Amino acid sequence: MKIVVLVKPVPDTFGDRVLSLETGLADRAASETVLDEITERALETVIRHAEASGDVEVVAMTMAPAESQSTLRKALAMGAAAAVHIADERLAGADLVRTAQVLAAALRRAGADLVVTGNGSTDGSGGVMPSMLAELLELPAATRLETIEITADAVRGTRETDGGTQAVTAPLPAIVSITERMPDPRFPALKGIMGAKKKPLEVLSLDDLAGELEGIGAPLEETEEPRSIMLAAAQRPPREAGEIITDDGTAAERIAAFLADRRLA
Ligand SMILES: Cc1cc2nc3c(=O)[nH]c(=O)nc-3n(C[C@H](O)[C@H](O)[C@H](O)COP(=O)(O)OP(=O)(O)OC[C@H]3O[C@@H](n4cnc5c(N)ncnc54)[C@H](O)[C@@H]3O)c2cc1C
Repeated sequence: MKIVVLVKPVPDTFGDRVLSLETGLADRAASETVLDEITERALETVIRHAEASGDVEVVAMTMAPAESQSTLRKALAMGAAAAVHIADERLAGADLVRTAQVLAAALRRAGADLVVTGNGSTDGSGGVMPSMLAELLELPAATRLETIEITADAVRGTRETDGGTQAVTAPLPAIVSITERMPDPRFPALKGIMGAKKKPLEVLSLDDLAGELEGIGAPLEETEEPRSIMLAAAQRPPREAGEIITDDGTAAERIAAFLADRRLA
């Protein structure tokens, strides 16, 4: 069985994340690029399954700038058997539709039995990629899973809703997304880091995917141009200093007035 985990390099959430006011995109030079935390958990979940069941090939796939390739090496060091990096300058500023088309084409090429994604990334946070891929690839999608069980012909899991827990199942091939409730990712061991250097890491351009793009109804020439255009980008204004209320006997009254003023009470 081949399981492809869609991993996304993102600016480190522990550092300052800066928006380039020129391009409207994340300023990647401003912070370290790391693997998105939820996609690391997705990878961990699938690697654990592969270790427990054997006969499972785990492939990490991303569509990301060329400079972020070290994150795929980390995925290989964690235990993925191979990696696929779609890196093409023409994809800079790709919106959700374009990203979905390109990832769908690469998934077609890879021929996965199961595709595992995060439920939303920490930078773009569109939260729709798994459903868009399912639509393009005509696969069932089981989203926001908090537990997962993979068998030879199906994937099952549970997800929390406001009213309770849903149990869902889909026949393979399928796409699932998981949440941050999945297990913490492992730190790659030295052996894994050394071994990662010898594992296959395939780099694909848009031209390499021309046939598959045609197959999903998104010919290369259409995929070269973004569908949505950023009109303006503005930095969020710095937060104003808050008011410190010292209790001189009137604190409760002033807090109540503060909340009422903001329609919070
Ligand atoms: C040159 C280049 C520059 C880019 N610059 C930016 C940027 O500045 N900011 C930005 O947010 N994105 C950037 N991207 C990536 C791409 O445009 C976004 O991934 C896409 O719009 C999805 O947005 P999202 O993260 O909101 O998706 P979501 O729907 O929130 O993602 C859900 C899940 O889908 C999967 N997924 C999403 N995107 C990818 C991906 N690219 N590769 C593999 N798996 C994925 C992950 O498993 C993720 O957990 C860039 C890509 C390239 C090639």
